[in-house]
Amino acid sequence: MLAIVKEERKPGAVVMRDVPAARPLEGEILIRVHSAAICGSDLHAYEYPPAYEFMKIPVILGHEYAGTVEAAGPGATVFRRGERVMGESNRFCGRCANCRTGRTNICENNLMTGLHVDGGMAEFIAVPENLVHRVPDNLSFEEAAVAQPCAVSFHAVYDNSAVVPGAAVAVFGAGVVGLTVAQAARLCGAAAVVVSGTGADARTRLPLARRMGFPTVDIDEEDLVAGFVSRTGRRRADAVLECSGSAAGIRDALRLVRKGGTVTLVGIYGQDAAISFAAVVRDEIHIKTSYTATWKNYEQALDLIAGGRVEVRPLITVYPFREGLQAFRDGLARAALKPVLQLA
Ligand SMILES: [Zn+2]
Ligand SMILES: [Zn+2]
Repeated sequence: MLAIVKEERKPGAVVMRDVPAARPLEGEILIRVHSAAICGSDLHAYEYPPAYEFMKIPVILGHEYAGTVEAAGPGATVFRRGERVMGESNRFCGRCANCRTGRTNICENNLMTGLHVDGGMAEFIAVPENLVHRVPDNLSFEEAAVAQPCAVSFHAVYDNSAVVPGAAVAVFGAGVVGLTVAQAARLCGAAAVVVSGTGADARTRLPLARRMGFPTVDIDEEDLVAGFVSRTGRRRADAVLECSGSAAGIRDALRLVRKGGTVTLVGIYGQDAAISFAAVVRDEIHIKTSYTATWKNYEQALDLIAGGRVEVRPLITVYPFREGLQAFRDGLARAALKPVLQLA
């Protein structure tokens, strides 16, 4: 079968080539992939910074995918051939204390699809059936693949933030996670949701946020706090969701949040952040973190996208699978927000 493979331990070295066909093991199903999306972490895997040296090499990339059930392995009984499905990104063990209490996203034995084990940028993928979700009929495969990052956003807002009806909310970063976090906060009844980004976001991402109905602040053009105050009429934010992944974003979040407010860190930080904790303590600022998503968040994402309550279509650029490497280049150049490869 054809697959997109990270071939060697160096920057680049991502190729499209034939690999042995995936086969479902005990408890697994084989999915014929129709859509596979490129995530920021796939782009990092492409660039191969030190934080990604844990990867299995060679590995088929991709953890955002949707398709149809092709076959079931021994003991897999939940799905029928032809059913429309998508899979979770974490291969949790199901046996550790966190898994047994529903916190599969922080499984003690977690393996990441497309990094530790072969992923979804291929004609087929074999996955344990306990991490597979049915896709509603009216949802396209492209949207179903993007339900994965959407689930990450819902975990951040609904399980790990202080977003409540009437809250003034700041979202840092206008990528796929930032723009779906903002939509989730609006669904919660937040009084105001302001999306901020840098000058690099000024051409496409911030205008897209505004088209989705969110006031924006370009922090390279305007002071973040002054911008937030002018957009909301509030002195500070009740809840900040830091989705930019930059260390500067953490410091800005602590500057913008009100006394007693909550900062949720959703980005994966490539650099350390120097923070003075005296003010954080004196102001009783809560710092929460949020990592990937659990079963419930995937169901929320599929339902809310299918019901038209959360929009992901404007984020997506579709590429035929054979142009997959071009899609990587466009993602790296920020020319496409969420490239989705179309296989069948
Ligand atoms: Zn991802
Ligand atoms: Zn576990």
